[in-house]
Amino acid sequence: MTTQRRLLMIPGPVEVSPAVREAFAVPPPGHLAEDVVEAFGASLEMMRRVWLAAPSSQPFAVSGSGTTAMEMVVANLIEPGDAAIVVNTGYFSDRMVTMLRRAGAEVVDLTAVPGEVPNVSRAEGAFADFARAGTKVKALFATHVDTSTGAMCDPAPLARLSREREALSIFDGVCATAAERFEMEAWGADVYLTASQKAIGLPAGLALLVAGARALAARDARKAETPLAQDWQAWIPVMRAYEARKPAYFATPPTNLILALAVGLEEILADGMEARFALHERGARALRAAWSALGLRPVPARAQNAASTLSALRFPAGVDASLVARVAERGVYVASGLHPAIRSEYFRIGHMGYALTRTDFLMRCVEAVAGGLASFGIAADGEGAVRAMLETLQAEVSG
Ligand code: PMP
Repeated sequence: MTTQRRLLMIPGPVEVSPAVREAFAVPPPGHLAEDVVEAFGASLEMMRRVWLAAPSSQPFAVSGSGTTAMEMVVANLIEPGDAAIVVNTGYFSDRMVTMLRRAGAEVVDLTAVPGEVPNVSRAEGAFADFARAGTKVKALFATHVDTSTGAMCDPAPLARLSREREALSIFDGVCATAAERFEMEAWGADVYLTASQKAIGLPAGLALLVAGARALAARDARKAETPLAQDWQAWIPVMRAYEARKPAYFATPPTNLILALAVGLEEILADGMEARFALHERGARALRAAWSALGLRPVPARAQNAASTLSALRFPAGVDASLVARVAERGVYVASGLHPAIRSEYFRIGHMGYALTRTDFLMRCVEAVAGGLASFGIAADGEGAVRAMLETLQAEVSG
Protein backbone atom coordinates (compact mmCIF):
# COMPACT_ATOMS: atom_id res chain seq x y z
CA MET A 1 0.00 0.00 0.00
CA THR A 2 1.31 3.44 -0.80
CA THR A 3 0.36 6.41 1.26
CA GLN A 4 -0.11 9.70 -0.50
CA ARG A 5 2.43 12.34 0.53
CA ARG A 6 0.91 15.19 2.51
CA LEU A 7 0.19 18.21 0.38
CA LEU A 8 2.04 21.36 1.49
CA MET A 9 -0.46 24.22 1.54
CA ILE A 10 1.24 26.52 4.06
CA PRO A 11 2.28 30.08 3.10
CA GLY A 12 5.77 28.91 2.20
CA PRO A 13 7.58 26.71 1.51
CA VAL A 14 5.15 25.60 -1.19
CA GLU A 15 4.73 22.73 -3.62
CA VAL A 16 7.15 23.10 -6.52
CA SER A 17 6.74 22.09 -10.16
CA PRO A 18 8.20 18.81 -11.46
CA ALA A 19 10.60 20.76 -13.71
CA VAL A 20 11.94 22.77 -10.76
CA ARG A 21 12.36 19.58 -8.75
CA GLU A 22 14.27 17.93 -11.57
CA ALA A 23 16.55 20.93 -12.03
CA PHE A 24 17.31 20.94 -8.29
CA ALA A 25 17.77 17.18 -7.85
CA VAL A 26 21.14 16.76 -9.58
CA PRO A 27 24.59 16.02 -8.17
CA PRO A 28 25.88 19.37 -6.82
CA PRO A 29 27.68 21.30 -9.55
CA GLY A 30 30.54 23.70 -8.82
CA HIS A 31 29.79 27.40 -8.74
CA LEU A 32 32.07 27.98 -11.74
CA ALA A 33 30.49 25.22 -13.86
CA GLU A 34 29.24 26.34 -17.25
CA ASP A 35 25.61 25.40 -16.65
CA VAL A 36 25.62 27.23 -13.31
CA VAL A 37 27.11 30.35 -14.88
CA GLU A 38 24.46 30.27 -17.60
CA ALA A 39 21.61 29.63 -15.14
CA PHE A 40 22.86 32.38 -12.81
CA GLY A 41 23.21 34.96 -15.57
CA ALA A 42 19.86 34.11 -17.12
CA SER A 43 18.17 34.18 -13.70
CA LEU A 44 19.41 37.69 -12.95
CA GLU A 45 18.10 38.88 -16.33
CA MET A 46 14.77 37.14 -15.70
CA MET A 47 14.47 38.65 -12.22
CA ARG A 48 14.30 42.13 -13.78
CA ARG A 49 11.43 40.94 -15.97
CA VAL A 50 9.53 39.26 -13.11
CA TRP A 51 10.05 42.33 -10.90
CA LEU A 52 9.06 44.58 -13.86
CA ALA A 53 12.22 46.49 -13.00
CA ALA A 54 14.31 49.00 -14.96
CA PRO A 55 17.32 47.91 -17.03
CA SER A 56 19.51 50.01 -14.70
CA SER A 57 18.39 48.05 -11.62
CA GLN A 58 20.64 45.47 -9.96
CA PRO A 59 19.30 42.00 -9.08
CA PHE A 60 20.94 40.00 -6.29
CA ALA A 61 20.58 36.28 -5.60
CA VAL A 62 22.43 35.10 -2.50
CA SER A 63 22.25 32.22 -0.03
CA GLY A 64 19.71 32.85 2.67
CA SER A 65 16.02 33.39 3.23
CA GLY A 66 13.63 36.30 3.25
CA THR A 67 15.06 37.52 6.54
CA THR A 68 18.52 37.63 4.93
CA ALA A 69 17.14 39.77 2.11
CA MET A 70 15.52 42.14 4.63
CA GLU A 71 18.77 42.38 6.62
CA MET A 72 20.82 42.95 3.48
CA VAL A 73 18.69 45.95 2.56
CA VAL A 74 18.96 47.43 6.05
CA ALA A 75 22.71 46.74 6.18
CA ASN A 76 23.32 48.60 2.92
CA LEU A 77 20.89 51.47 3.19
CA ILE A 78 20.37 52.37 6.84
CA GLU A 79 22.95 54.21 8.89
CA PRO A 80 22.73 55.08 12.60
CA GLY A 81 20.50 58.11 13.08
CA ASP A 82 18.59 57.66 9.80
CA ALA A 83 14.87 58.34 9.93
CA ALA A 84 12.57 55.59 8.64
CA ILE A 85 8.83 55.02 8.34
CA VAL A 86 7.31 51.54 8.52
CA VAL A 87 3.80 50.95 7.17
CA ASN A 88 3.15 48.05 9.52
CA THR A 89 0.69 45.27 8.65
CA GLY A 90 1.80 42.59 11.09
CA TYR A 91 4.43 40.08 12.11
CA PHE A 92 6.95 40.70 9.32
CA SER A 93 6.60 44.48 9.45
CA ASP A 94 7.37 44.16 13.19
CA ARG A 95 10.52 42.25 12.22
CA MET A 96 11.53 45.11 9.92
CA VAL A 97 11.01 47.62 12.75
CA THR A 98 13.30 45.52 14.98
CA MET A 99 15.99 45.35 12.31
CA LEU A 100 15.82 49.09 11.65
CA ARG A 101 16.06 49.94 15.34
CA ARG A 102 19.04 47.58 15.77
CA ALA A 103 20.69 49.42 12.86
CA GLY A 104 20.28 52.63 14.86
CA ALA A 105 17.42 54.14 12.84
CA GLU A 106 14.79 56.44 14.28
CA VAL A 107 11.62 54.59 13.30
CA VAL A 108 8.03 55.76 13.10
CA ASP A 109 5.97 52.58 13.24
CA LEU A 110 2.49 53.02 11.74
CA THR A 111 0.50 50.08 13.04
CA ALA A 112 -2.99 48.81 12.24
CA VAL A 113 -5.34 46.22 13.72
CA PRO A 114 -4.71 42.72 12.30
CA GLY A 115 -6.01 42.45 8.73
CA GLU A 116 -6.01 46.22 8.16
CA VAL A 117 -3.47 48.38 6.34
CA PRO A 118 -2.46 51.84 7.61
CA ASN A 119 -3.84 54.54 5.34
CA VAL A 120 -1.43 56.38 3.02
CA SER A 121 -2.42 59.64 4.73
CA ARG A 122 -0.76 58.36 7.91
CA ALA A 123 2.51 57.93 6.00
CA GLU A 124 2.04 61.49 4.70
CA GLY A 125 1.56 62.63 8.28
CA ALA A 126 4.74 60.86 9.40
CA PHE A 127 6.74 62.53 6.59
CA ALA A 128 5.23 65.89 7.63
CA ASP A 129 6.15 65.36 11.30
CA PHE A 130 9.75 64.56 10.39
CA ALA A 131 9.86 67.57 8.03
CA ARG A 132 8.62 69.88 10.82
CA ALA A 133 11.45 68.60 13.01
CA GLY A 134 13.91 69.33 10.20
CA THR A 135 14.61 65.64 9.58
CA LYS A 136 14.86 64.12 6.12
CA VAL A 137 13.43 60.58 5.95
CA LYS A 138 15.83 58.02 4.49
CA ALA A 139 13.35 55.30 3.63
CA LEU A 140 9.80 54.05 3.87
CA PHE A 141 9.31 50.31 4.39
CA ALA A 142 6.18 48.23 3.76
CA THR A 143 5.33 44.54 3.60
CA HIS A 144 3.53 43.92 0.31
CA VAL A 145 1.61 40.96 1.70
CA ASP A 146 1.83 40.31 5.41
CA THR A 147 1.91 36.55 5.81
CA SER A 148 0.60 36.75 9.36
CA THR A 149 -2.76 38.25 8.37
CA GLY A 150 -3.15 37.94 4.59
CA ALA A 151 -3.37 41.74 4.41
CA MET A 152 -1.97 43.37 1.29
CA CYS A 153 -0.89 46.99 1.02
CA ASP A 154 -1.05 49.04 -2.19
CA PRO A 155 2.61 49.77 -2.93
CA ALA A 156 2.04 52.28 -5.78
CA PRO A 157 0.90 55.31 -3.72
CA LEU A 158 3.52 54.58 -1.05
CA ALA A 159 6.26 54.49 -3.70
CA ARG A 160 4.95 57.72 -5.24
CA LEU A 161 4.77 59.50 -1.90
CA SER A 162 8.31 58.40 -1.02
CA ARG A 163 9.63 59.75 -4.37
CA GLU A 164 7.89 63.07 -3.73
CA ARG A 165 9.52 63.27 -0.30
CA GLU A 166 12.91 62.18 -1.68
CA ALA A 167 12.93 59.04 0.45
CA LEU A 168 13.57 55.48 -0.71
CA SER A 169 10.65 53.04 -0.81
CA ILE A 170 11.43 49.46 0.12
CA PHE A 171 8.95 46.61 -0.15
CA ASP A 172 9.09 43.14 1.40
CA GLY A 173 7.57 40.91 -1.27
CA VAL A 174 8.39 37.58 0.37
CA CYS A 175 4.75 36.49 0.27
CA ALA A 176 3.91 38.40 -2.93
CA THR A 177 6.67 38.59 -5.54
CA ALA A 178 5.73 36.83 -8.79
CA ALA A 179 2.12 36.48 -7.64
CA GLU A 180 0.75 39.92 -6.75
CA ARG A 181 1.09 42.83 -9.16
CA PHE A 182 4.24 44.82 -8.53
CA GLU A 183 5.55 47.21 -11.17
CA MET A 184 8.89 48.24 -9.77
CA GLU A 185 9.91 50.61 -12.57
CA ALA A 186 6.50 52.11 -13.36
CA TRP A 187 5.72 52.72 -9.69
CA GLY A 188 9.19 54.07 -8.89
CA ALA A 189 9.84 51.61 -6.05
CA ASP A 190 13.49 51.41 -5.00
CA VAL A 191 13.89 47.88 -3.59
CA TYR A 192 11.69 44.80 -3.85
CA LEU A 193 12.89 41.74 -1.96
CA THR A 194 11.78 38.14 -1.64
CA ALA A 195 12.92 34.56 -0.98
CA SER A 196 12.87 31.45 -3.13
CA GLN A 197 10.33 29.35 -1.26
CA LYS A 198 7.07 31.12 -2.03
CA ALA A 199 5.60 32.32 -5.32
CA ILE A 200 9.00 32.05 -7.01
CA GLY A 201 8.32 28.31 -6.63
CA LEU A 202 11.63 26.87 -5.33
CA PRO A 203 12.79 25.20 -2.15
CA ALA A 204 13.98 27.62 0.56
CA GLY A 205 17.58 28.85 0.45
CA LEU A 206 17.84 31.93 -1.75
CA ALA A 207 17.44 35.56 -0.76
CA LEU A 208 16.41 37.53 -3.85
CA LEU A 209 16.17 41.24 -4.32
CA VAL A 210 16.32 43.94 -6.97
CA ALA A 211 17.68 47.39 -6.12
CA GLY A 212 16.96 50.40 -8.31
CA ALA A 213 19.39 53.15 -9.26
CA ARG A 214 18.48 55.43 -6.33
CA ALA A 215 19.02 52.62 -3.81
CA LEU A 216 22.38 51.77 -5.38
CA ALA A 217 23.38 55.44 -5.20
CA ALA A 218 22.37 55.52 -1.53
CA ARG A 219 24.69 52.57 -0.88
CA ASP A 220 27.52 54.34 -2.68
CA ALA A 221 26.98 57.45 -0.55
CA ARG A 222 26.98 55.43 2.69
CA LYS A 223 29.55 56.42 5.29
CA ALA A 224 29.08 53.67 7.89
CA GLU A 225 30.75 50.28 7.37
CA THR A 226 28.62 47.47 5.90
CA PRO A 227 29.02 43.86 7.15
CA LEU A 228 31.06 42.19 4.42
CA ALA A 229 28.82 39.20 3.66
CA GLN A 230 25.87 41.54 3.16
CA ASP A 231 27.65 44.25 1.22
CA TRP A 232 26.17 45.07 -2.17
CA GLN A 233 29.56 46.42 -3.22
CA ALA A 234 31.08 42.99 -2.61
CA TRP A 235 28.27 41.23 -4.47
CA ILE A 236 27.76 43.54 -7.45
CA PRO A 237 30.92 42.46 -9.32
CA VAL A 238 29.83 38.83 -8.90
CA MET A 239 26.30 39.48 -10.16
CA ARG A 240 27.66 41.51 -13.09
CA ALA A 241 30.14 38.77 -13.99
CA TYR A 242 27.47 36.07 -13.99
CA GLU A 243 25.23 38.27 -16.09
CA ALA A 244 28.09 38.59 -18.57
CA ARG A 245 28.24 34.76 -18.44
CA LYS A 246 31.59 34.78 -16.66
CA PRO A 247 32.32 32.71 -13.56
CA ALA A 248 32.96 34.69 -10.39
CA TYR A 249 33.37 34.15 -6.67
CA PHE A 250 32.74 36.08 -3.52
CA ALA A 251 30.92 33.51 -1.37
CA THR A 252 29.67 30.12 -2.54
CA PRO A 253 26.16 30.20 -4.00
CA PRO A 254 23.73 27.27 -3.51
CA THR A 255 24.38 25.84 -6.96
CA ASN A 256 21.44 23.41 -7.12
CA LEU A 257 19.10 26.26 -6.23
CA ILE A 258 20.60 28.46 -8.94
CA LEU A 259 19.85 25.75 -11.52
CA ALA A 260 16.30 25.53 -10.15
CA LEU A 261 15.93 29.32 -10.11
CA ALA A 262 16.48 29.55 -13.86
CA VAL A 263 13.80 26.92 -14.45
CA GLY A 264 11.35 28.47 -11.99
CA LEU A 265 11.70 31.95 -13.47
CA GLU A 266 11.41 30.54 -17.01
CA GLU A 267 8.13 28.89 -16.04
CA ILE A 268 6.81 32.18 -14.65
CA LEU A 269 7.85 34.16 -17.73
CA ALA A 270 6.56 31.55 -20.16
CA ASP A 271 3.08 32.51 -18.94
CA GLY A 272 3.92 36.21 -18.70
CA MET A 273 3.41 38.42 -15.65
CA GLU A 274 -0.18 39.40 -16.46
CA ALA A 275 -1.19 35.73 -16.70
CA ARG A 276 0.70 35.07 -13.50
CA PHE A 277 -1.11 37.79 -11.54
CA ALA A 278 -4.43 36.56 -13.01
CA LEU A 279 -3.69 32.95 -12.01
CA HIS A 280 -3.30 34.00 -8.38
CA GLU A 281 -6.34 36.28 -8.40
CA ARG A 282 -8.50 33.59 -9.94
CA GLY A 283 -7.28 30.88 -7.56
CA ALA A 284 -7.81 33.13 -4.54
CA ARG A 285 -11.32 34.04 -5.67
CA ALA A 286 -12.23 30.36 -6.16
CA LEU A 287 -10.85 29.41 -2.76
CA ARG A 288 -12.70 32.31 -1.13
CA ALA A 289 -15.92 30.87 -2.57
CA ALA A 290 -15.04 27.55 -0.93
CA TRP A 291 -14.22 29.13 2.44
CA SER A 292 -17.41 31.13 2.35
CA ALA A 293 -19.40 27.93 1.64
CA LEU A 294 -17.75 26.44 4.74
CA GLY A 295 -18.70 29.46 6.85
CA LEU A 296 -15.08 30.64 7.23
CA ARG A 297 -14.44 34.37 7.55
CA PRO A 298 -11.13 35.94 6.39
CA VAL A 299 -8.97 38.02 8.76
CA PRO A 300 -8.69 40.94 6.26
CA ALA A 301 -12.11 42.53 6.63
CA ARG A 302 -11.90 44.52 3.38
CA ALA A 303 -11.74 42.66 0.07
CA GLN A 304 -9.32 45.22 -1.41
CA ASN A 305 -6.81 44.41 1.35
CA ALA A 306 -7.00 40.66 0.85
CA ALA A 307 -3.96 38.97 -0.70
CA SER A 308 -4.22 36.33 -3.41
CA THR A 309 -1.30 34.32 -2.07
CA LEU A 310 -2.80 33.07 1.17
CA SER A 311 -6.04 32.75 3.11
CA ALA A 312 -6.05 33.72 6.79
CA LEU A 313 -9.31 32.36 8.18
CA ARG A 314 -10.92 32.82 11.56
CA PHE A 315 -12.02 29.68 13.42
CA PRO A 316 -15.82 29.47 13.47
CA ALA A 317 -17.61 28.94 16.83
CA GLY A 318 -16.86 25.51 18.24
CA VAL A 319 -13.51 25.14 16.43
CA ASP A 320 -10.03 25.67 17.90
CA ALA A 321 -6.38 25.62 16.85
CA SER A 322 -6.34 21.81 16.78
CA LEU A 323 -8.01 22.20 13.37
CA VAL A 324 -4.53 22.46 11.81
CA ALA A 325 -3.57 18.98 13.09
CA ARG A 326 -6.97 17.57 12.07
CA VAL A 327 -6.48 18.89 8.52
CA ALA A 328 -2.99 17.33 8.48
CA GLU A 329 -4.54 13.99 9.45
CA ARG A 330 -6.53 14.36 6.24
CA GLY A 331 -3.38 14.70 4.14
CA VAL A 332 -2.87 18.44 3.88
CA TYR A 333 -0.53 20.72 5.80
CA VAL A 334 -1.97 24.14 6.59
CA ALA A 335 -0.46 26.67 9.01
CA SER A 336 -1.38 27.99 12.45
CA GLY A 337 -1.98 31.64 13.30
CA LEU A 338 1.11 33.86 13.53
CA HIS A 339 0.04 37.41 14.40
CA PRO A 340 0.59 37.67 18.18
CA ALA A 341 -2.67 39.59 18.81
CA ILE A 342 -4.91 36.92 17.26
CA ARG A 343 -2.67 33.86 17.09
CA SER A 344 -5.17 31.39 18.58
CA GLU A 345 -8.16 32.69 16.62
CA TYR A 346 -7.31 31.74 13.04
CA PHE A 347 -5.30 29.56 10.66
CA ARG A 348 -3.59 30.09 7.31
CA ILE A 349 -3.51 28.38 3.94
CA GLY A 350 -0.92 29.24 1.28
CA HIS A 351 -1.87 29.19 -2.40
CA MET A 352 1.03 30.21 -4.59
CA GLY A 353 2.60 29.13 -7.83
CA TYR A 354 2.43 25.52 -8.94
CA ALA A 355 -0.43 24.51 -6.60
CA LEU A 356 -2.71 26.95 -8.42
CA THR A 357 -2.19 25.07 -11.68
CA ARG A 358 -3.35 21.86 -9.95
CA THR A 359 -7.09 21.85 -9.40
CA ASP A 360 -6.69 18.42 -7.76
CA PHE A 361 -4.43 19.98 -5.08
CA LEU A 362 -6.97 22.71 -4.42
CA MET A 363 -9.78 20.17 -4.16
CA ARG A 364 -7.76 18.03 -1.73
CA CYS A 365 -7.09 21.12 0.35
CA VAL A 366 -10.75 22.21 0.51
CA GLU A 367 -11.88 18.66 1.29
CA ALA A 368 -9.30 18.30 4.09
CA VAL A 369 -10.32 21.62 5.66
CA ALA A 370 -14.00 20.61 5.42
CA GLY A 371 -13.20 17.23 6.99
CA GLY A 372 -11.26 18.92 9.79
CA LEU A 373 -14.17 21.27 10.51
CA ALA A 374 -16.68 18.39 10.43
CA SER A 375 -14.58 16.52 13.02
CA PHE A 376 -15.60 19.21 15.54
CA GLY A 377 -19.22 18.20 14.95
CA ILE A 378 -20.12 21.38 13.08
CA ALA A 379 -21.90 21.42 9.72
CA ALA A 380 -19.32 21.66 6.93
CA ASP A 381 -20.49 20.89 3.42
CA GLY A 382 -17.24 19.81 1.76
CA GLU A 383 -18.90 18.84 -1.50
CA GLY A 384 -20.70 22.18 -1.67
CA ALA A 385 -17.42 24.01 -0.98
CA VAL A 386 -15.57 22.12 -3.72
CA ARG A 387 -18.47 22.81 -6.09
CA ALA A 388 -18.38 26.54 -5.25
CA MET A 389 -14.65 26.58 -5.93
CA LEU A 390 -14.91 24.72 -9.24
CA GLU A 391 -17.80 26.89 -10.40
CA THR A 392 -15.80 30.03 -9.66
CA LEU A 393 -12.76 28.66 -11.50
CA GLN A 394 -14.98 27.66 -14.45
CA ALA A 395 -16.78 31.00 -14.59
CA GLU A 396 -13.41 32.78 -14.62
CA VAL A 397 -12.06 30.62 -17.43
CA SER A 398 -15.12 30.97 -19.66
CA GLY A 399 -15.88 34.57 -18.63
N1 PMP B 1 8.59 38.68 5.10
C1 PMP B 1 7.47 38.03 4.83
C2 PMP B 1 6.31 38.81 4.31
C3 PMP B 1 7.38 36.65 5.03
O1 PMP B 1 6.26 36.01 4.75
C4 PMP B 1 8.50 35.94 5.51
C5 PMP B 1 8.47 34.45 5.73
N2 PMP B 1 7.27 33.87 5.97
C6 PMP B 1 9.65 36.67 5.79
C7 PMP B 1 9.67 38.02 5.56
C8 PMP B 1 10.86 36.01 6.31
O2 PMP B 1 11.34 35.11 5.35
P1 PMP B 1 12.16 33.82 5.75
O3 PMP B 1 11.32 32.98 6.64
O4 PMP B 1 12.42 33.19 4.41
O5 PMP B 1 13.40 34.30 6.40
